Amino acid sequence: MKRFCVSGEVAVAGHPTAFALREIHVLDEGGEFGDPVDVTVADGSIVAVGAGAASAPGATDVDCSGLFLMPGVFDCHCHLDFESGSLEEQMSFDATRWALEVARNGRLLLDLGVTSVRDVGASTPGIRDGFAAGAVPGPALHVSGPPIGQTGGHTDGYVPSTGAEAISGFMVPDYAGRPPYLVDGPDEMRKAIRLQLRTGVDWIKVMTTGGLLSSVRDHPLKPELTEEEVAVAVFEAARAGVPVAAHAYGGEGLDLAVRAGVRSVEHGIFLSEEQAAEMAERDCWLVPTLVVVHELAELAAAGELDARSRERIAEILPDAGRQVAVAKEAGVSIALGTDLLRQGPNLREIPLLAAAGLTPAEALLAATARGAALCGVDDRGRIAPGQAFDAIVLDEDPSDLEVFNRPDGVTGVFQNGNAVKPHARWTA
Ligand SMILES: [Zn+2]
Repeated sequence: MKRFCVSGEVAVAGHPTAFALREIHVLDEGGEFGDPVDVTVADGSIVAVGAGAASAPGATDVDCSGLFLMPGVFDCHCHLDFESGSLEEQMSFDATRWALEVARNGRLLLDLGVTSVRDVGASTPGIRDGFAAGAVPGPALHVSGPPIGQTGGHTDGYVPSTGAEAISGFMVPDYAGRPPYLVDGPDEMRKAIRLQLRTGVDWIKVMTTGGLLSSVRDHPLKPELTEEEVAVAVFEAARAGVPVAAHAYGGEGLDLAVRAGVRSVEHGIFLSEEQAAEMAERDCWLVPTLVVVHELAELAAAGELDARSRERIAEILPDAGRQVAVAKEAGVSIALGTDLLRQGPNLREIPLLAAAGLTPAEALLAATARGAALCGVDDRGRIAPGQAFDAIVLDEDPSDLEVFNRPDGVTGVFQNGNAVKPHARWTA
């Protein structure tokens, strides 16, 4: 197989377009794996699921007894840009080098079993469309524009030594037509949102508190942007049918984001019971991003972070995960997100969600059907007739979530019915 086939539009020589996976355990709508069934796929979509499901004409049968099948994972808080190099190296990346780094991460995520991604600040609509057209392999993307914050806030990566303007962490390099990411005042917000929307983004991302690894002036509980500014963002985005995601750790910044009507709160480590009740009331989702905190703690322990970042991580670590139980108790919808600086341990988030208070079934649904719901996608996220066949295969029962802590846990990946990571049984 010489060409990658990711979009379902590119035919691959010798690749069956109709097949039946026989006798496979399938994740059901309740998050459980029942008795083995047959799953029939034709032209990239699921045709039938059930015992003895008929093959499509000319279909290839694959014996899958003993294997497990679940929908491809939705990572609802991802940044495809981060991967390699020191900060100095990243500063030297131009937009072309950066685009290739993003493409490499797209391939990596598919291999992990992440077939859909909400990229809340990095990939552009052009990268989304390039993946979808099969130019290079990558997950289905739902992209925001560059994260919008205030001058001196979490997204402001101003470089004092040179006076250079930059997005925090050099997440998105400068390029012609890049929409603005720093706003001060409702008028600037309105203009920024309209400029972002005209590029074709699926989401708007705002930063309403500081963060973990940004400037000295920034702190996870420091409120950023005003309620008026965020309300303008929500209003303008809603007119275009686009939802708003707010990076918010807690406190006043989280309050104002929820009151302004954002669709999701990202991180939310210091979420209070009152805030969770308000979120449930307004159908505002939580995307907890636990794995990044654990990864950062491991980097800190290995001496790879500066002293201030190590301090921040140590301060936040005891609270990481508490927000999951608080949100669940209040009835807040939860979807899986990772926020990783290096893609790889993304599926570790599933057992972490369970350790923080979800049942294994709830954690598996947060990673699949719930992610699809947050992204407004109704043709993916479930193994059911009519759904696009984005799916992962495992050799062990994934209701023991431990399998997701191992890099080799996912043994096969399908995207739009194509075996983008062929399982051994498939190649046999
Ligand atoms: Zn993030």
